[in-house]
Amino acid sequence: MSRTKYVYLFEEGQADMKSLLGGKGANLAEMTRIGLPVPPGFTITTEACKEYYRLGKEFPPNMMEDALLALRVVEEKTGKSFGDKDNPLLVSVRSGAPISMPGMMDTILNLGLNDVTVEGLASLTGDERFALDCYRRFIQMFCNVVLGIDHAVFDAVMEKYKKRHGLIFDYEIPADGLRSVIAEYKGLVVKEAGREFPQDVYEQLQMAIKAVFESWNNQRAIVYRKLNKIPDDLGTAVNVQAMAFGNMGSDSGTGVAFTRNPSTGERELYGEFLVNAQGEDVVAGIRTPTPISKLKDELPQVYEQFTQVCQTLESHYRDMQDIEFTVEKGKLYMLQTRSGKRTAAAAIKVAVDMVREGLITREEALLRVDANQINQLLHRQIDSKAELNVIAKGLPASPGAASGKVVFDADEAEKLGNEGERVILVRSETTPDDIHGIVKAQGVLTSRGGMTSHAAVVARGMGKPCVCGCEAIKIDPDGHEFTVGDMVVKKGDIISIDGATGNVILGEVPMIEPTLSEEFETLLKWADDVRRIGVRANADTPEDAAKAREFGAEGIGLCRTEHMFMAQDRLPIVQEMILADTEEARKKALAKLLPMQRGDFYGILKAMAGLPVTIRLLDPPLHEFLPGAEELLTEIAEMNARGQNNAVLAEKRSLLKKVYALREFNPMLGHRGCRLGITYPEIYRMQARAIFEAVVKLKKEGIEVLPEVEIPLVMDSGELALLKHEVLEVYEEVKAETGIEFEFTVGTMIELPRACVVAEEIAAEADFFSFGTNDLTQTTLGFSRDDAEGKFIPIYLEKKLLKDNPFAVLDRKGVGSLMVMAIEKGRSVNSGLLIGICGEHGGEPSSVEFCHQIGLDYVSCSPYRVPVARLAAAQAAVLYPRE
Ligand code: ADP
Ligand code: MG
Ligand code: MG
Repeated sequence: MSRTKYVYLFEEGQADMKSLLGGKGANLAEMTRIGLPVPPGFTITTEACKEYYRLGKEFPPNMMEDALLALRVVEEKTGKSFGDKDNPLLVSVRSGAPISMPGMMDTILNLGLNDVTVEGLASLTGDERFALDCYRRFIQMFCNVVLGIDHAVFDAVMEKYKKRHGLIFDYEIPADGLRSVIAEYKGLVVKEAGREFPQDVYEQLQMAIKAVFESWNNQRAIVYRKLNKIPDDLGTAVNVQAMAFGNMGSDSGTGVAFTRNPSTGERELYGEFLVNAQGEDVVAGIRTPTPISKLKDELPQVYEQFTQVCQTLESHYRDMQDIEFTVEKGKLYMLQTRSGKRTAAAAIKVAVDMVREGLITREEALLRVDANQINQLLHRQIDSKAELNVIAKGLPASPGAASGKVVFDADEAEKLGNEGERVILVRSETTPDDIHGIVKAQGVLTSRGGMTSHAAVVARGMGKPCVCGCEAIKIDPDGHEFTVGDMVVKKGDIISIDGATGNVILGEVPMIEPTLSEEFETLLKWADDVRRIGVRANADTPEDAAKAREFGAEGIGLCRTEHMFMAQDRLPIVQEMILADTEEARKKALAKLLPMQRGDFYGILKAMAGLPVTIRLLDPPLHEFLPGAEELLTEIAEMNARGQNNAVLAEKRSLLKKVYALREFNPMLGHRGCRLGITYPEIYRMQARAIFEAVVKLKKEGIEVLPEVEIPLVMDSGELALLKHEVLEVYEEVKAETGIEFEFTVGTMIELPRACVVAEEIAAEADFFSFGTNDLTQTTLGFSRDDAEGKFIPIYLEKKLLKDNPFAVLDRKGVGSLMVMAIEKGRSVNSGLLIGICGEHGGEPSSVEFCHQIGLDYVSCSPYRVPVARLAAAQAAVLYPRE
């Protein structure tokens, strides 16, 4: 029987084996394969991890045996021996999942040291201090990761020593000092863990591998997976790799670099280097490192080699890389590469530049940009004309600007954020345990750490503004305030940060909307060339319409008329219309509304000249235009108490009566949509007239208009036939009055399951269908949105009964199937039927993809989402080409 292969030497793997070897392992293998300098090692597969959990946390049979065989190979390659007293091999034991989860799981460095091998390492390197420094780092890391002892316990020992001897930096502690620190560490281990620090190197290795497997299920990894929708069953691989030592003096060090600037996309080496340090010092943001460009002066040969390696990696992977490396006594070692996380702006620039450099195709470029992410480009920036009270400057780590209340604690940031407050999370540095607070904050400010520190990486990924390494601010340890010089900024004070300049500003600042970069315009043009479905916008005002056009909308897919009724000067007339007891009185009020509506439609049709505009007739239940019953009751009670008894009171009383009369048990399923047009034909007639009169006026001005009159919430062809007849009658009237003829269409929203089921009957009456997927989702799932999103959808998501909120991401199986049915039935009787979608799903990338797949003619979304939809539609066309 063949036995499962759980262990792969780096030279046995390659880049496309990520699911088995994890991203880190697969890329270490790939770098080894193409001849880059990678310390030798091997990877224990994700299958082994999964098997470990299946077996109730036991290593699968043969796994450890094979690992030790692989270790022998590493010994041969390095000429060192694991646990050898004279020439010991030290290794790192590194986690690495199929999908990158930076910093979420555990890694242990310098494994293989004990009381004996540390002396061997000392005499071998002739550097006792170095050997002892490795040992104390190892004890600390091992005990933290494997035995769960808090870092702070060990840090306190170091701090105490430095204080006693008047030292500032760790590297100033001499060998003797380190010996006493190590002795104290070992005592602490016994005290905290109830066992001796393991001296057997093989026991160390087993424990470390187990701990890395276990770190797949630590709290922060679980939270990160949930946040990023990464499945829980992928498991992590374990990489065991010979150590390269960045802590061997001033010709050694460790660094992190991107092959291009991950904030802007500029083609330049970007990163940081720490002299005489081990990897985790940079990533943890504990010391503020120097920019990579300094390496050019300090270690010119290494820099030269490094830039070459970066170029090799870019042309090999054909993408921007995020690299971890270490220099040991002037020799470069590559420790990690992956495709670099980047801001949306950088993603676009890199993709477009790489097409121009001939590295990738346009189609690939379109797929390189995450459509969900480009939203952040529509982020606000500080108005350049504003007078700013800049109190400090840090590193510009993630672009965009934000204002909010100062908060020093992630839990508090989360709490206030949930309450709708805008907060800026201020920390000396962030750790993976702060993620929940960063999610809810407008932006992040740190006093320590570089451009590749945790805060910077996480904020860029989320598209949040971040300023880091702002050393001028001193945060008081109790977390109540920070100071800059003698200025005090208290918790709750408002500050602003500018992630593009690094400025920290006191108070609120004026912001402006951004414009699209040249590269963004180019990418969207490429998107328009390949996409097969149209993109329209939902807009109710000429301003929104203009914005939508600017962002590339090809029409308006939904112009709601109710917002026009809500305007301050209109509401009293609308109320008068609703309160009218007779048709006569209602017509009088409607006559007052007519010129106003005509003006509305004139403005919006003009703004969209030459493009189609779908105008939906009145949809919401009428009580939405009236004050609430509670509010009225209070007013009446107050007037009574004051002894007021006049016409105003009488009016309020009759209003209250009407409010009660219009009250509904299920307003979303109540007297609304086309049902209004059927019970009060004069309302729809007024709206139709307003549209047509506006069209006539525009025609006279020589402006081309393409109005589409839309009837909402239809469940049967009879409703549509009746209302269409009314609309056509109004058209005939207007034509007779003005002598002007014009084209228009009449169609319907499809937002009830019954409408989908009888779509062939409805299509016989309709020029177009527009899926109102907000209502269609409500009615198909039987979820009332306002109740569902607050009360039970979060729990459904948690229990994985739903994969996504169906109001955000279209439910393909349920709602989607109904759409497919409606499309097939509709087109079967009316081949020219125009079909679109105007629910919020129209701007959500995966829903747009679905709309492409089922053959819609267009999607319609909010103006700011138009670029997102254009890109998503293009991506769908590349991934799922239609004949
Ligand atoms: P993470 O996934 O959290 O980045 P890594 O496994 O990449 O964890 O390890 C963290 C740091 O430890 C890396 O930045 C790397 O520089 C350092 N490191 C890991 N393995 C080695 C090694 N074999 N030699 C030297 N440094 C290493
Ligand atoms: Mg790493
Ligand atoms: Mg609707």
